[in-house]
Amino acid sequence: MNTISAADYEIVFNETAYSFLNQFVQKQNYSKIFILVDENSSENCLPLFLQNFSIEIAFEIIELESGEINKNIHTCTEVWTILTELGADRKSVIFNLGGGVITDLGGFIASTFKRGIDFINIPTTLLAMVDASVGGKNGIDLGNLKNQVGTITNPKMVVIHSQFLETLPQNQMRSGLAEMLKHGLIYDANYWDLFLDLSQLDTNDMDVLIHRAIEIKNNIVEQDPTENGIRKALNFGHTLGHAIESYFLENKDKTTLLHGEAIAVGMILESYLSTTLNLITTEKYLQIKNTIKSIFGTVEILDTDFTPICDLLIHDKKNEYGKIQFTLLEEVGQVKINQEVSTDTIISSFLDYKS
Ligand code: NAD
Repeated sequence: MNTISAADYEIVFNETAYSFLNQFVQKQNYSKIFILVDENSSENCLPLFLQNFSIEIAFEIIELESGEINKNIHTCTEVWTILTELGADRKSVIFNLGGGVITDLGGFIASTFKRGIDFINIPTTLLAMVDASVGGKNGIDLGNLKNQVGTITNPKMVVIHSQFLETLPQNQMRSGLAEMLKHGLIYDANYWDLFLDLSQLDTNDMDVLIHRAIEIKNNIVEQDPTENGIRKALNFGHTLGHAIESYFLENKDKTTLLHGEAIAVGMILESYLSTTLNLITTEKYLQIKNTIKSIFGTVEILDTDFTPICDLLIHDKKNEYGKIQFTLLEEVGQVKINQEVSTDTIISSFLDYKS
């Protein structure tokens, strides 16, 4: 797999990744490496990582409890304190070895500790490989509001080793698939078409699919690193998806939705909104809805959930001057950003989703 060059860092793959990493670490002359893991990446991925990466300088492992619930300021305070106690200095580096929670948290912790130290992302979930680890967005949740506090700081390198996925549960694989589908919908119609019939794909295709998904994300980010324009394409499905994810997280009667599961619903709803503005045809909408539902099923959303979910949209980070801004599909492979939609139309998208 070819290395992908991002603005000021490289995304390296599989067999060759570790020699790039070794060389880079030697060149930087780091004082100490801190490897941030959660209990699952510690058990399933750390041994494989340490087999491949020959660390020649002092390192410490910092293990956090897994889960979105821990992506908050308390965890950051804990890690900042541990770093301080263990003598981290400005020449220390943090390796974020885990899913999107670890890369988001670790990136935020590193980019703020002593006004910013280096970090390297080593994603171990599909979602973190194709999305969270690339593009420089780091952050934490504020209460149940997703990613309200954060930084845009690039990692120094991203190491993609698809062998980590061998231990990833199926529902987590599916969650990552949602972001890959999104990359096709917003940027590459041919890539989207590959997912229309999953039975045509096998596990050998995975490396190529991951590589292309990262390439798409990187292309978009490079055009607009600070999200003033085209980077908003990546938010397709996320305006409603994040609101649904937050609502399910805070509501004890609901099962918690994985990030990708919520985004899958959001992509169907926002494809429906695209038809109401005459952007995509109803036929295309139905193809999107049926394809996503065939993979993710239908999440139960009650009529009484609509209003509280819409209320959460007010906190969306894309809002400007108090107005909710959607990224919608102009056609498969192309988006239209900064679209406004009435609450009634949003409600009709929920009703159609349920049908
Ligand atoms: P996660 O980090 O919670 O990982 C999912 C689960 O898989 C966890 O229980 C984890 O411990 C476990 N796990 C990780 N690697 C494993 C492996 N190889 N084998 C077995 N278990 C493993 O969640 P995620 O889906 O990776 O990431 C979701 C997060 O990513 C959300 O917080 C979301 O906001 C964020 N995100 C960020 C961006 C960005 O641009 N920064 C983009 C998309 C998503």
